[in-house]
Amino acid sequence: MTDCVFCRIVARTSQAEVEYEDDAVLAFKDIYPKAPIHLLIVPKRHISSIMAMEPQDAEVLGRCLLAARKIGEARGLAERGYRLRVNCGPDGGQVVYHVHVHFLAGGRASGG
Ligand code: 5GP
Ligand code: ZN
Repeated sequence: MTDCVFCRIVARTSQAEVEYEDDAVLAFKDIYPKAPIHLLIVPKRHISSIMAMEPQDAEVLGRCLLAARKIGEARGLAERGYRLRVNCGPDGGQVVYHVHVHFLAGGRASGG
């Protein structure tokens, strides 16, 4: 989807600081970080929102959580931990309609 900013980042037609990549998932730095470490973990395949999630999307969304675990280990956060957040729909604070998991770390509250 060329009108989706995260699809453009996945396709590398828009720039982002990529932190992790595998066949199904990309993770990159949030452009406006709300914690000392603030990454966005996205499925490479466009899914607009958890509110539009279908059963066949369960595996790739699980892969996003697996990526979070790997990033946490790679960043030395496996013991201290981090916060994962998924905003869903307008009242959930979702602004970008390509599913993403916020990975927040580096402080006790990690982005509120
Ligand atoms: P949401 O509120 O939809 O859960 O979060 C969207 C997040 O995407 C925000 O934290 C915002 O800073 C981030 N964001 C929006 N546009 C871009 C972009 O073009 N590049 C990057 N790296 N992050 C973005
Ligand atoms: Zn997209």
